[in-house]
Parts: sequence; structure tokens; C-alpha cells
Amino acid sequence: MSHKTPDVLDTFGRPLKSLRLSVTDRCNLRCKYCMPEEAYTWLPRETLLSFEEMCALTGFFAELGVDKVRLTGGEPLLRKDLPTLMRMLLENPRIKDLALTTNGMLLAEQAQAFRDAGLHRVTVSLDTLKPERFTALTRRNGHEQVLAGIDAVVRIGFRSLKLDTVAMRGFNDDELVDLIEYGKRVGAEVRFIEYMDVGGATDWSMDKVFSRAAILERLSRRYGPIEPIIEQSSAPAQRFVLPDGATFGIIPSTTAPFCAACDRSRLTADGLWYLCLYAKDGTDLRRPLRAGAPAEEIKSLIRSVWQGRRDRGAEERKELEQIGARGRLVEIDKLRADPHLEMHARGG
Ligand code: SAM
Ligand code: SF4
Ligand code: SF4
Repeated sequence: MSHKTPDVLDTFGRPLKSLRLSVTDRCNLRCKYCMPEEAYTWLPRETLLSFEEMCALTGFFAELGVDKVRLTGGEPLLRKDLPTLMRMLLENPRIKDLALTTNGMLLAEQAQAFRDAGLHRVTVSLDTLKPERFTALTRRNGHEQVLAGIDAVVRIGFRSLKLDTVAMRGFNDDELVDLIEYGKRVGAEVRFIEYMDVGGATDWSMDKVFSRAAILERLSRRYGPIEPIIEQSSAPAQRFVLPDGATFGIIPSTTAPFCAACDRSRLTADGLWYLCLYAKDGTDLRRPLRAGAPAEEIKSLIRSVWQGRRDRGAEERKELEQIGARGRLVEIDKLRADPHLEMHARGG
């Protein structure tokens, strides 16, 4: 007899499956596509969830169908004792897949502890192979540290390693082939992400987006015909195969969004739950948790909010684009007043 919990479905029939858990809103880089401003408002420390609170909330999600958890931030490695959180999360047998997205700066020294704690998959953000470009983009030094982090992950061996590259016209569109070749050397799949106009991306403009079509055109000039891989998946990346058998992905969030299959939601480090990267409001789960609300009450809140979900943010942005009305998502004064609107608070 099967004990599988029936999926909780939103208004478009999308299941609640994958949770991005932001463990901190702080970051040691200042990537121009994510944190271009000089100053930021941070979440008050006393509001940040403890590991026990994160695990309690994740446990409720897991009972409602979540089986994939991705740790993110800000920069998740800035949160102390991350392996402890990994171990605690993996004590829950419903969590089948635990992944991490990191900028790689502190990865070399922590990768073994993550492996020992049971972490399954690692994604490192890598936008360039040129140290001076890295510094121009992130406004910090540390390219060598990121590459050392990737080396460590390769040496230690995880279930998978992916490299995420935000493709930006005029910035790194001349490096796509080099990045794929680097990925082949280290045994990692590269995924090119279209630059998105999420809250916090105050430098965004359509002309900086290097689109899926442009990426494919650029790569096929070098490699020859590129074939799409046909697969049933809720993963945001569309995957392709090169004539030599190497694979890569494209996440075309801006020009060809994939909201119809989106089973992802996001919990900020202070316990606000967002149904979409573009959502303006979230549901406060910290308050009922800290007030001692019974598990059933919090679970039924989560269930009813997900059942009412209508979010398809990237598709709506594209529709605005088509009528020439794609303005800034959130004004800077609103971002300053509510850091939850930032990509670095809700996790990419
Ligand atoms: N700090 C970690 C990192 O950079 O990998 C994790 C958090 S970061 C917000 C997660 C992902 O979001 C990164 O891969 C980053 O490249 C991506 N990202 C941030 N701003 C973006 C934007 N405006 N468009 C597309 N991707 C973006
Ligand atoms: Fe860059 Fe990630 Fe930090 Fe954003 S959160 S500034 S993408 S390293
Ligand atoms: Fe999912 Fe929102 Fe991204 Fe669409 S825009 S794929 S609904 S998170």
C-alpha cells in the first residue's frame, strides 16, 4: 500500500514540490545584476530563523509534498554551521534532494564538511573566467577563490555540479564557449540564465539581456547544430546537446518564461514565504511558528495559500514587454523600505 501524500495543487494545477530556503540575506559580493546599489537594508537579526525553526517549517512543507530543498541566500556560506543545518534537514526522510547555490567564495574550505553532512548537489554561480571581469561585476576580488571552490567540489565528488552563468550582452557574451569548455574540463553542466528584471536588479535593461536565441546562435556558430533534449521536467533549465555529446542548459526566464511548470517557492531567512520570484508580498510563517501555533494550523495555512497561487511573474513581465510597458519592477525607495523585495533576500 502506498503512503504517498496527494499533491497540493495551485490554481494552475502546479504541485508544491521544491523549496528554496534562504539562510541569510547577507552577501560577500555585490553582483551588478543583483545588488548594484551602494547601500542595503538588512533583515533584523532577531527575526532570522534558527536552524530548528527552519527545519520545523521545512518539515511542514515536506508533509505537503516538498521533497527538494535548495539552500540559498544572500550567500548561504556566510551562515555559520551550515553543515549542521544540512544534517538536520536530511534527518527528514521526505527530503530526497538537498542542493546548494553559492557564489563559491568560501566553498573550498567548506565543501568537504558539506559532503560529510550529506549535501547532494552543488550549483556555483560563475559568470566569467576572467578575474578582472569578476571584480568589475561583483565589485570584490575573489575569482581565484571561486575556481578553488569548484575544484574542491570536483575533487570531493557530489551527485551533481552545475555552473550558473547570467548571460549579459556586452559583458560576458563573448565567453559562452569558454565557459562550456571549462565546464567540460571539470565535469560540470553549464546553465546560462537570462538576465531578469527581478526586484533589486535596478541596473536591468532589455538591451543587456542576452537571449536564449542569441545564446544558441552564438554557440552553434562554434559547435555546429545544437539539439534540444526532450524531457518532462519542472526544472527551469531547457537542456541542449552539442555535436560532441556535451550538454548545457538555458534558463530563458526573460524571453521564454516557464511559469506553467513552476513548482518552486521561497522562504526568506526570516520566515516569509514567497510564491514567485516576482511576488510583491509573502506569507509570514515566522509569526505563527514563534507564537506556538499547532503544526496542523501552519500546514493548513501553507496548503490554502498554495491552493490560491496564481503567480506567473515572468510571463506577466513578458506580456508587459510586448505592449512596451516593462518598467522597473519596484522603485528603489520601496526596495530600501522592504528588503524582502530583493533577489538577495528571497534567494535566486
Ligand atoms: N549568492 C548565491 C549565488 O550567487 O549563487 C546564491 C543567491 S543568488 C541570488 C542565486 C542566483 O541568482 C545566482 O546564480 C545569481 O546569478 C542569480 N541572479 C541574481 N540576480 C539575477 C538577475 N537579475 N537575473 C538573473 N539571475 C540572477
Ligand atoms: Fe551575487 Fe549571489 Fe550575492 Fe546576489 S546574492 S550579489 S548573485 S553573490
Ligand atoms: Fe515560477 Fe514566478 Fe519564476 Fe514564473 S516567475 S517560473 S512563477 S518563480
